[in-house]
Amino acid sequence: MCASYVIVGDGIAGSSAAETLREADPEADVTVITEEGEALYNRILIKEFAKGKLPAAPVSIREPDWYADRDIDLRLNTVVTGVDTDAHELSTHEGDTYGYDRLLLATGGTPAQLPVDDSDADGIHHFWTFEDARAIKAAAAEAETGVVVGAGLLGLDLAAICGAQDVDAHYLMRGDAWWRYALSEDGAAVIHDALREKGVTPVFGSGVDHFETDADGHVTAAVDPDGDRYEADFVGVAIGLDFNTEFIQDTPIECDNGILVDEYMQTSVEDVYAAGDITRFHDVVLGERAQNGAWGSAKEQGSVAGRNMATGGETEEFEWVSSYSITHFEFPFLSFGHPTLGDETVERTYDEGTWRRVTLKDGRVVGGVLIGDLAAQSALKKLARRGVDVSDRTERLLEEEVDVDAFTEAATPE
Ligand SMILES: Cc1cc2nc3c(=O)[nH]c(=O)nc-3n(C[C@H](O)[C@H](O)[C@H](O)COP(=O)(O)OP(=O)(O)OC[C@H]3O[C@@H](n4cnc5c(N)ncnc54)[C@H](O)[C@@H]3O)c2cc1C
Repeated sequence: MCASYVIVGDGIAGSSAAETLREADPEADVTVITEEGEALYNRILIKEFAKGKLPAAPVSIREPDWYADRDIDLRLNTVVTGVDTDAHELSTHEGDTYGYDRLLLATGGTPAQLPVDDSDADGIHHFWTFEDARAIKAAAAEAETGVVVGAGLLGLDLAAICGAQDVDAHYLMRGDAWWRYALSEDGAAVIHDALREKGVTPVFGSGVDHFETDADGHVTAAVDPDGDRYEADFVGVAIGLDFNTEFIQDTPIECDNGILVDEYMQTSVEDVYAAGDITRFHDVVLGERAQNGAWGSAKEQGSVAGRNMATGGETEEFEWVSSYSITHFEFPFLSFGHPTLGDETVERTYDEGTWRRVTLKDGRVVGGVLIGDLAAQSALKKLARRGVDVSDRTERLLEEEVDVDAFTEAATPE
């Protein structure tokens, strides 16, 4: 009898797993179930669409025909509401049930709402789907004033959308710098200046105490805890994700702010795997549990999960140094690995607008941020992947050209 694989989620993790499974097991039944009404699209590009810089067509990656051509059963607009891991069966909001031999959970997260009054008022946007991007694009095009909340990578996307759509916006941040866990004041200053150039004003030591709305329930302003009021007919909120694990809460699948998996993408329950943003995985490069919220990492996790599901064994480990680049400004920006973890950092400003920080743990590179000049990215990622001990030469990580061989030769005993 042929095997039956069910995948929940048609983001890049789920879709890559489906492709891998079909290649590895041509006879198997493969089903992909997604809550969304459209097949896989490029989530990375929806910000460019919302900025008004990109038509819709290049955002799409797969049409339903792609699945049909490969005999993959794609179920759009279908929410999985429960899983019975003993019976190897899941159920959907419409009351349908699907049996599986092996199951992949690739359900990612949903943007969290601010815990304040009127946080879901008209005009307040959260950003995850193409559908969100369409609404954001239209609203930003109409708006004159804006507020963005959330000093991370997605918040910056919302700020850049305001800049591109000529919305006079304030970017409210809790601390004294954008992405303060990964950047120092010097690095963040490059971003603050670039935001100001786009007409977005960073406001530090701020946040939202409450929103004001008009008689129709549309947002008109955000008021911060000091009582400062920022007019806004457009608000973008990006304060993190709530992981989509509700439908497995009655199962023994172990979760701890995400689904726990080993390096083979296996959960704590036999025949159940997870991949993508939803996982807290054993990171073999870092040597501890970690989480990645990046496209490349989700894609690779999906493929690795697919290969392991096809054999039911420990065929392939997930070993990856992720990267995330930002293209909103005239200069390049890239973060790699885990720039907010580790126990030591080294950094340098080269000239105005060119900055680098490398994060280390136990003398080994685990992440970093490069602004202005990305030439060293490949060498730094190689050092991270190889786990080279660089503890006595950390300053050399900041040389304009990083020579991997010099590190590895010196690290090899005579
Ligand atoms: C605006 C934006 C910009 C980004 N920019 C970058 C970037 O520049 N670089 C980068 O590396 N990463 C970027 N990312 C992050 C990257 O897109 C994600 O890390 C990646 O898409 C995660 O893929 P995934 O498959 O794990 O999850 P998702 O893409 O979130 O897919 C999960 C899918 O599961 C579905 N689902 C959830 N629950 C259920 C259920 N119960 N039943 C059925 N279906 C369900 C969801 O509807 C969704 O379609 C960006 C993300 C966003 C939102």
